[in-house]
Amino acid sequence: MELSTEESQQAGQAPQRPRRHSRQVVLRHTVDGEEREVRIGGGAPISVQSMTTGKTHDVPGCLAEIRGLAEAGADVVRVAVPRPEDADALAAVVAGSPVPIVADIHFNYQYALQALEAGVAKVRINPGNIGKPEWEREVLRAAKDRGVPIRIGVNSGSLEKDILDKWGFPRPEALFESAMRHVEVCEREGFEDVVISVKHSDVYFMIQSYRLLAAETDYPLHLGVTESGSLKTGPIKSSIGIGSLLADGIGDTIRVSLAADSVNEVLVGHQILKSLRLGRPGVNVIACPTCGRLAGDLFSVVDEVEEAVAKRGFEKDLNVALMGCAVNGPGEAAGADLGVSLGRGRAHLFKHGKIVGTVDQGEIADAVIDLIERWDDEA
Ligand code: SF4
Repeated sequence: MELSTEESQQAGQAPQRPRRHSRQVVLRHTVDGEEREVRIGGGAPISVQSMTTGKTHDVPGCLAEIRGLAEAGADVVRVAVPRPEDADALAAVVAGSPVPIVADIHFNYQYALQALEAGVAKVRINPGNIGKPEWEREVLRAAKDRGVPIRIGVNSGSLEKDILDKWGFPRPEALFESAMRHVEVCEREGFEDVVISVKHSDVYFMIQSYRLLAAETDYPLHLGVTESGSLKTGPIKSSIGIGSLLADGIGDTIRVSLAADSVNEVLVGHQILKSLRLGRPGVNVIACPTCGRLAGDLFSVVDEVEEAVAKRGFEKDLNVALMGCAVNGPGEAAGADLGVSLGRGRAHLFKHGKIVGTVDQGEIADAVIDLIERWDDEA
């Protein structure tokens, strides 16, 4: 697998984060008459996707959900198209959406054709249920005519029967074989605007499936752990699965699947990227877990600082360390851009390891925000 540090640096991301070389696909959409695009692969910033949970044919409800996801930071939103009325609603959903819309198609290739007609930015097909090869080819030809990318979205729960029979259960080789079979169909049609996903509900198998793909192809990869669970378990599974691959430079766009309000998918997705310093520039809050040496109420400080940072949406790429005592705190805080070390109701503030002030516990959050706001002037 070829890694390109240069590409990641060109994309304005943190250095020393080499990424797998991948081709690029472009998702085009129009907002208020203005043409926009989101690029996936080829060194583009890693995009965060989510999916609506309401009925697509309820256009006002669907658009309200899409706007909520976009406001939370979703770069791309997928909608389900299980019924004719959902396919009929796509044009209105596309027209009213602030972000590119992906149509999620299972079983009925006609809905994929209708989605392309409606102007969606990408179509996801499930190789396990798209049906006859000639139907798939018809979708590919229509997508090619319109310059719309297709995601080959393999899922461990819906593999083709012959592949499942061959491998016995959805092992990584089975997901890989399904994806590559359909990549070949695309390539025979001269269609290369392809994104691939091989989602598995087993995190370990998910990681192995993507590694097989990353070693074999240079198509951009959409990462996700399928059916990862509730807000309690899902972020952990997704962070392990998506995070392990991203740490290896694999992955071009991500979706965290949660059985919870989908705004959480977007927030967790950005947090995964931020944790690896792969996301958009922003303030990364680090906090000690506290222990018997704690000298104050660190949890409240962390809550206040996180809330204030989230509210302001800073685009300054800073690490802010919040530490609970004067034993390890100063040392840890010194390693961050901005540090706080608690001590008997007061706290020292550090900038690049140098003490720049002392404040009372109740003033810490305001002081941190003030330092972040003035950072450009003084850094
Ligand atoms: S910084 Fe201090 S309070 Fe926090 S975990 Fe370390 S020793 Fe404990």
